[in-house]
Amino acid sequence: MHNHSDLLVVGSGILGLATAFLAHEQGQSVRVIDGEDRPVGSSIQNFGHACFTGQADLVQGVADRARAGWQRAAAQAGFWAAESGTYIPAMTEAEQQVLHEFAEHRGAGQVTLLSGAEVAESIGNPDLQAVSGAHLPRDMRVNPREAAPALARWLSGQGVEFAWGTRVTAVADGVAQTSRGEYTASRIVVCPGYGLRDLFPTLAEKHGIRTCTLVMSLIDRPRRVPADLALLTGTSLTRYDGFTAMPSAQALRRELAEREPELVDCIANLMVTGIEGGLLIGDSHAYATSPEPFIDERIGNLLLDRSTQLLGIDSPMIGQRWLGRYADSSSTNLVLERPDERTTVAVVTSGIGMTLSFGIAELALTGGDVPGF
Ligand SMILES: Cc1cc2nc3c(=O)[nH]c(=O)nc-3n(C[C@H](O)[C@H](O)[C@H](O)COP(=O)(O)OP(=O)(O)OC[C@H]3O[C@@H](n4cnc5c(N)ncnc54)[C@H](O)[C@@H]3O)c2cc1C
Repeated sequence: MHNHSDLLVVGSGILGLATAFLAHEQGQSVRVIDGEDRPVGSSIQNFGHACFTGQADLVQGVADRARAGWQRAAAQAGFWAAESGTYIPAMTEAEQQVLHEFAEHRGAGQVTLLSGAEVAESIGNPDLQAVSGAHLPRDMRVNPREAAPALARWLSGQGVEFAWGTRVTAVADGVAQTSRGEYTASRIVVCPGYGLRDLFPTLAEKHGIRTCTLVMSLIDRPRRVPADLALLTGTSLTRYDGFTAMPSAQALRRELAEREPELVDCIANLMVTGIEGGLLIGDSHAYATSPEPFIDERIGNLLLDRSTQLLGIDSPMIGQRWLGRYADSSSTNLVLERPDERTTVAVVTSGIGMTLSFGIAELALTGGDVPGF
């Protein structure tokens, strides 16, 4: 039947595309439906940072499978994916202490401690006065503006059907009702990101789904700063579950509240990644079910100021500002629900969906247990 496939995926963000990719690898016939005419959701608005190492110990298995999925997808679809790792300068003793504990906990294969001079050199600002630093060699980088669109294009060339501009209005028992008629499938995996509230309002309420908005900027990249840069900072050490499990994370939280109250107030995870066309700078976090559409210029400037200080950029040239969005829940990092035997709903509800996408897609397809989310 023309409108039937083995697998139907709702959503062409990275989670939907990773699911389509894995099912296609298994030889299933796959159709992807998206309300937009190309990927424009969270998956292109982010840093393109696959921060496997910073995730909780319990999800390291999922992170490993996600990493392998990124490697296969990039090799086959031909998009840029760098295994350049993450750099974290320790600017204070408190930051250094968390990094030392993390290195001790995870071991040399996952965390390499660096001198202040080494980390400064690696991020392209030899003048940075860091106390010390760390490199997380397993982390990866992609260009978020390239990866999902390239994967969608490649899958389409491989025979995966794409129904763009088609809004799904209901899904149950192998049938998807859409703005362009009905589609059927043996299984349906629904990955609507922050669109979950429209499609499954009861599930969204159950998990307290809200939208997180993040102030982001793209600035020109000086040639001395690597295009594959991934730079985390002290605020990141109080955010990702892997770091926050360290004994000294609480002390760092207190130190940051005194030293950088403005960053703490806007719930910043100050970080920078490089892409060929510039440096992606962010981010702050604000939570609402119906968020304000406005970009707070003071927050944008604060993040710009602190990040360019670390990189030694005196007069940043701003190319773009945007308010990124992702689905959030205060009670879980992942919604993986099976409302009926043929339907799986998968939504990453914190800012780690690029990192874990291929690992979560595998869980969505296999029905595997969800450890530690
Ligand atoms: C500023 C920012 C920075 C981030 N940084 C990182 C990072 O460095 N590392 C990391 O791991 N993660 C990061 N994230 C999080 C990450 O981007 C998301 O977790 C991930 O992209 C979610 O992917 P998704 O496929 O679930 O959602 P999306 O990319 O939003 O895709 C959902 C798709 O579903 C479609 N859709 C929704 N409802 C319907 C419907 N009813 N009918 C048809 N189509 C529908 C939408 O059109 C959309 O294309 C960041 C996010 C933001 C916003």
